[in-house]
Amino acid sequence: MENAKKVPEIFGSMVFGDAVMRERLPKDIYKALKNTIENGEALKLDIANSVATAMKEWAMERGATHFTHWFQPMTGITAEKHDSFIEPLDNGQIIMRFSGKALVKGEPDASSFPSGGLRATFEARGYTAWDPTSPAFVKEGTLYIPTAFCSYGGEVLDKKTPLLRSMQVIAKSVKKILEIFGRDDLTPTTTVGAEQEYFLIPKELYDRREDLQFCGRTLFGATPPKRQEMDDHYFGAIKPKVKAFMEELDIELWKLGVMAKTEHNEAAPAQHELAPIFSTTNIACDHNQLTMEMMKKVAEKHGLVCLLHEKPFMGVNGSGKHNNWSLSTTSGINLLEPGDSPNENLQFLLFIVAVIAAVDEYAPLLRLTVASAGNDYRLGASEAPPAIVSIFLGDELTEIFEAIENGKGYDKKGKVYMDIGADVLPKIRKDNTDRNRTSPFAFTGNKFEFRMLGSSLSIAEPNIILNTIVSDILDRFAERLSDADDLPQAVLELIKETYSEHKRVIFNGNGYSDGWTEEAEKRGLPNLRTSAAALPYLRSEQNVALFERHGIFTASEVNSRCDIMLESFAKTVHIEALTLIDMINKEILPSVASYMNSLTELALRKAELGVSSGFERDLVKKLSITCDKTASSAAKLERAVNTAEKKENVSERAEYYDKDIRKLLNELRTSIDELEQKTAKKYWPYPTYADMLFYN
Ligand code: ADP
Ligand code: MG
Repeated sequence: MENAKKVPEIFGSMVFGDAVMRERLPKDIYKALKNTIENGEALKLDIANSVATAMKEWAMERGATHFTHWFQPMTGITAEKHDSFIEPLDNGQIIMRFSGKALVKGEPDASSFPSGGLRATFEARGYTAWDPTSPAFVKEGTLYIPTAFCSYGGEVLDKKTPLLRSMQVIAKSVKKILEIFGRDDLTPTTTVGAEQEYFLIPKELYDRREDLQFCGRTLFGATPPKRQEMDDHYFGAIKPKVKAFMEELDIELWKLGVMAKTEHNEAAPAQHELAPIFSTTNIACDHNQLTMEMMKKVAEKHGLVCLLHEKPFMGVNGSGKHNNWSLSTTSGINLLEPGDSPNENLQFLLFIVAVIAAVDEYAPLLRLTVASAGNDYRLGASEAPPAIVSIFLGDELTEIFEAIENGKGYDKKGKVYMDIGADVLPKIRKDNTDRNRTSPFAFTGNKFEFRMLGSSLSIAEPNIILNTIVSDILDRFAERLSDADDLPQAVLELIKETYSEHKRVIFNGNGYSDGWTEEAEKRGLPNLRTSAAALPYLRSEQNVALFERHGIFTASEVNSRCDIMLESFAKTVHIEALTLIDMINKEILPSVASYMNSLTELALRKAELGVSSGFERDLVKKLSITCDKTASSAAKLERAVNTAEKKENVSERAEYYDKDIRKLLNELRTSIDELEQKTAKKYWPYPTYADMLFYN
């Protein structure tokens, strides 16, 4: 990179972060704002006015003429409406103004976002409220203000509000535990680092495939002779074109304060990954949204298209997202790391066992936060963790818990005899050699890595759930430990009991094996294979009670979210069906017909000459049969879509799309792939898998 030396200067240059605030705001204003950011203190209007003015001046220096309240509706992506800073004067001139009121609250006419019946279109429009815990930034001439989005009745319409609530809830629960251990000086928080997988393909090929444009994935495509079997792409040398893309992506992300750290090629051809350095959950979530958006924008500048779909191509790995999650303190202590004293070790084990209990008790809930039409093609498909939620703890930690359960000390490889509560736990090694990549939820030394997320998913939902369920267990723990006489003894007993009760969720073996599915069933672990099966669990009694207990969602908010997710699932498959029908009728069948026509003409001319035409006749016969089959399946699919759309109940509709429509889509795919393999390249209307995956 030419500007390597400038990276520290570039980093965060478009962010209205702490350093800028300190420099630009009067001292008392800065203090008041810090108090709002750190302690949630309400911001007075005169303070907001000063902050807004400073923000505007700073943003204009970076070319901003507009501002936007940037929010995260239930679509899973972000939304924005831009307003300019201009304000008219009496004399027909204008000034550039940005008021505290405009900073703090906005009223986008956002009545068309999915609200799951919480808010009819004719009703109040909902408003956006500034989230000062995630810094504002300038992008493409606009000042972006991260905001939460609610209805006037206070109903949650977005993903940020519940995320912020869940962060508060877990911070409170962790604090209770820390206080029990005598640490009342610490402020807990949660940290997340989201590793992001994606595909890059040439734009000119993408532009020729309606399925990629409308559905984000290919609906057919014959298997190329080579896929990923040689493992030569994984961590392989990066193509110059892709390298140029990554370089620009890094710079754009750094400007926005996103700590893009690791870039490499992934397992599938044309697949790559970006991992950032972790940050607090709220910011990690905003930054992951920015990362996905920038990947798409920067790719276009390089003649490429970034595919974030979970399964753009059959037969090669799909893309996921790893949500690395930990409990920390604002002073930087990682609470999921063994400490230096017996007390800290007990505390560490207590936090770990709380996560184990939470994941076991709320497994269906965790599973459904990653449910989407696209992710259905990954989970359980021998490339991603199965749909069964289990935890990988590693041998060392498992041995420690087993020892506690059996009332024994932990004998670490015969070396250190460990009497928990009197000795110090060894640091859990981050051993990359026996890292288990097949576990949906793995302890990786000092954090848990939740690996079931699909690549296009907002990380908000899984983190809302993770925070809430762990908090639920910690509250229970705190209650029980609050009046313990002998704390270490009481904690040990609690760990022992909890571990015994929930150890069924621990699985250190190969999650891709068939044996595991059987074993999991024996253990009574739920296996919710598809989205349509998993999503309705959101409104189970247990879950509604959980959300209400912690003030995350009301029952009606839970219902609306469940409807939105089911609806979105059904719509996705609906669009896939219509796209495929269109491609079949407008391009595939006519193209194969032309090819058959040329073969037929040749066969006839050959007959005139008395030359054998077995090859042409044979091929025409085969193609003809497959074409007939394709046409009749397409007609059947069309009728099925009509049937689906008549179903008023959204769960039934989702189920019909899942079972019946998807079956027809698969049948069609087989026929079309057969046609592709038998049709001469110059007649086949679409770029093939080989074209798209192995470009230069
Ligand atoms: P690995 O490559 O072995 O999975 P890394 O250390 O490279 O592990 O981290 C992977 C991701 O986990 C990175 O995004 C990193 O920032 C994140 N991460 C590391 N520590 C934490 C933590 N304490 N909390 C949240 N995320 C973390
Ligand atoms: Mg990882």
